[in-house]
Amino acid sequence: MTERVHARAPGKINVFFQVGAPGADGYHEVASAYQAVSLYEDVWATPDDDVTIEVSGPVELSGVPLDDRNLAVRAARLLAAEIGYDGGVHLQVHKTVPVAGGMGGGSADAAAALVACDALWGAGLPTGELLRLGAELGADVPFALMGGTAVGTGRGDQLSPALARGRFDWVLVVSEEGMSTPEVYAELDEYRAGAAPHIPPTPARPAVQPAVLQAIRQGDARMLAAASDNDLTPAVLRLRPTLDDLIDLGLREDAMTALVSGSGPTVAFLVEGEQAALELQVALSAAGHEALHVHGPVPGARVLPE
Ligand code: ATP
Repeated sequence: MTERVHARAPGKINVFFQVGAPGADGYHEVASAYQAVSLYEDVWATPDDDVTIEVSGPVELSGVPLDDRNLAVRAARLLAAEIGYDGGVHLQVHKTVPVAGGMGGGSADAAAALVACDALWGAGLPTGELLRLGAELGADVPFALMGGTAVGTGRGDQLSPALARGRFDWVLVVSEEGMSTPEVYAELDEYRAGAAPHIPPTPARPAVQPAVLQAIRQGDARMLAAASDNDLTPAVLRLRPTLDDLIDLGLREDAMTALVSGSGPTVAFLVEGEQAALELQVALSAAGHEALHVHGPVPGARVLPE
């Protein structure tokens, strides 16, 4: 048996996110354009008797469960059950995606654990099977497997890849304290129930705007900046009002647009290229923010040579 497998999966930015009304089960129908970005989760899988995990990395790790609630552990258990494997695995997870930051870090861990265990246990499941298992683990896991650029509908898990050209440069500002996705959705429902005149109508059928897909297809950052949007933004800003000043600062410093990623609180500034990214990073750092330069799209979860 292979002794150690290293897999890597990317975090994501939702460059467009539209949210419908909640269904009877409380879940919202969404339409999302995902872009995988160069902030990665690494997983090393080695044989063990049970499924065990250790987590390291430069991000705040206190919110990461180390038991069966961890998405990487759940991924390994699900794959083992699927292929009838009764051994275990030790997962060493190195996180660089902020925890509860709206960038799908836990989902990336699950995706990397799936491909790592698939290789370690010699299962060789076809991609379609891994995507199906991923969808059972969480709405963002199939995208972390697929990477690149994709449109997600339903709960975000019905995925189709989108054509993309070129490279988009982002400066991310990560908050130390994450946000709970269910809380953000509840806040959105409350905000929309307010029915003030400036509140946009809730879309009956969420859909990704064609201009977003055209911008991505053409690799046109300016066009993407004009078309990108996230329906969760007002809810995130109500829960975290300090992000308003951060967004204003980034826009004053020449970011083409500021996006809350997913359910926040990570803010992603789209910039024109590497030089612009560096300048924005300097300005944000001077104001006391931790700013990271990433680019997308990048590939999905894959095994790397040791
Ligand atoms: P989502 O928008 O899907 O909630 P996110 O990117 O905002 O994702 P994650 O970092 O994926 O946030 O984690 C959300 C929560 O999931 C955490 O607060 C934690 O309780 C739980 N969790 C389970 N497994 C993991 C994992 N491997 N890494 C981080 N958090 C995990």
